[in-house]
Order: sequence, then C-alpha cells, then structure tokens
Amino acid sequence: MVISGSPAKTDTVFPPRVKKLNWMTVTVMVIFHIGAVAALFNFSWRNLIVAAVLLWFTVGLGISMGYHRLHTHRGYKCPLWLEYFFGLCGAMSLEGGPIFWVGTHRIHHQRSDLPGDPHSPKEGAFWAHMGWILNGEGNHNKTEKMAQFAPDLAKHRFYMVLNSWHWVPTVVLGLILWVTGGFSMVLWGIFLRIVVGMHFTWFVNSATHMWGSRRFETTDTSRNLWWVALLTFGEGWHNNHHAHPASIRHGLAWYEIDHSWILVNILKFLGLAWDLKVATLDSQVAVQRRAA
Ligand SMILES: [Zn+2]
Ligand SMILES: [Zn+2]
Repeated sequence: MVISGSPAKTDTVFPPRVKKLNWMTVTVMVIFHIGAVAALFNFSWRNLIVAAVLLWFTVGLGISMGYHRLHTHRGYKCPLWLEYFFGLCGAMSLEGGPIFWVGTHRIHHQRSDLPGDPHSPKEGAFWAHMGWILNGEGNHNKTEKMAQFAPDLAKHRFYMVLNSWHWVPTVVLGLILWVTGGFSMVLWGIFLRIVVGMHFTWFVNSATHMWGSRRFETTDTSRNLWWVALLTFGEGWHNNHHAHPASIRHGLAWYEIDHSWILVNILKFLGLAWDLKVATLDSQVAVQRRAA
C-alpha cells in the first residue's frame, strides 16, 4: 500500500517564532506547574486513578488517536461523532484547539529541522521541548490565522468554535471535579494531569528528535525512543512516523508497543474505524523534503 504524506498541505511558511517571552503563556505555565507540585502533597488513590483515566482520555484518545493520527494525518476514518469526541478530548489536554494543534504539526512535518519548524532541537533542547510555547505570540486563539494550515478542519463549525474556546471544556471539567471530589481532585485531575500530559507530548518534539535509533533515513533528525512511546500511547516511534506520516501504525516491529495501533484495531473490529493507512517495516520512505 502506498503511504502518502499529510493531506491539505499548504505552501505557506509559518513565520519564525520571535524569541521574546510571552508573559501570558509563562504565567499560565507557572501556575499550572505550582498546582502540579501542590497535588503531590494531596495524594489519594482516588485522585491518582482520576488523573490517570483523564490522561488516557486526553493524551491517548485526544492527542494520539485524535489530533495527531486522525485530524493531522488522516491515518484512518471513523464516524464524525467519534472524530468530534476525540477533538473534544484533545482540547482537554490544554495543548490548544484542534486547528492550532493540527496547523502547527503540519508545519513541523513540512519544515522538519529547517527554518520555520516551530520546535526543532537545532535551536536547543529546551526550545524544542517548551521554549517554543513560552516565546512569541500565542496563536492558540488565532483561529482564522491557523485555519489556513488546516483548511479541512476549518470547514467544520464545531472545530472553529472549539479552537477559539479550547479552554472552556477544561474549566467545565475542573468544576465537575471540584464539586464531586473537592479541590485536591482538581489539583490532580486538572493541574498535575495537564502538566504531565504536556511534558509527555513535548518529549516527542525534544527527546525523539535527539535520542534513540533511526530505522529510516529521513531528511530530519527524528528517532525511535521506547520510553517516549510508552509515555505517549505510541507516539515515540517518531522516526517511523516521519518516514510514513500518514500511517496510523507507528510501532512497526512487533516489539514496538503502540497503544493507538492496538486501539484502532479494536475500533475497526467494532465497525468504528475503517480505511486504515498502514506502513510496514519494508515500506519505502514516503516523506518528501520540501524546498528549503
Ligand atoms: Zn517530529
Ligand atoms: Zn505527525
């Protein structure tokens, strides 16, 4: 099977991020990290289980199954209601709305480790991990601007509204946790869970572009890193992914554990997923370097 690249590519080059701290973003990040540390002093098994389940919904379903493999790369098809549900889960990771996340990630694939890549480790490990979030203008709420990089999503009013108000579902979830489990559950289910989910996701931008093995000779610095794969529901097989961006399957060898590949097969068995694009170990590298 031919594994093509990401759909809906645009030739528009994203302007380089200005290296000037965005104090709004910095303030939010500091508050969330303080909340995450405070959670550690309010441990209970119930809080831990709530946070773990929410991490699975938001990073496992929202980011890996939704934002990344479905919304960005269209590695499989599913009912629209499920697509929207994964989008809602993704928003509750607080990594931005679907149009912002998908637009940013498509630019990363188009410009991997070239000028214009939003988070290349060639500009420093910290920059690739979270510096790129803390600097420059925040594009999280610039739905119209980011829509040019995700025109397929912009056709859906649901995604446009969700992108502009991406933080609202998290606030609602926080209120529900507060009423049902008290403030310590908010610390675990919102603050700690979101901080952990962000760092796990950011490891894909930093660690798997620096450490690990390379199976495919791609034109970027992507690598396969087992521990990031375990933390991110399979996203750490990043060299496999850069070689075959549209493949729903990222862990290609039997020992490369890939949660989302297992889950999509369960969904397929249930009739909830179809048209899977699947790379294999001997698939030809599909990625094409765009003109620098
Ligand atoms: Zn990458
Ligand atoms: Zn990708």
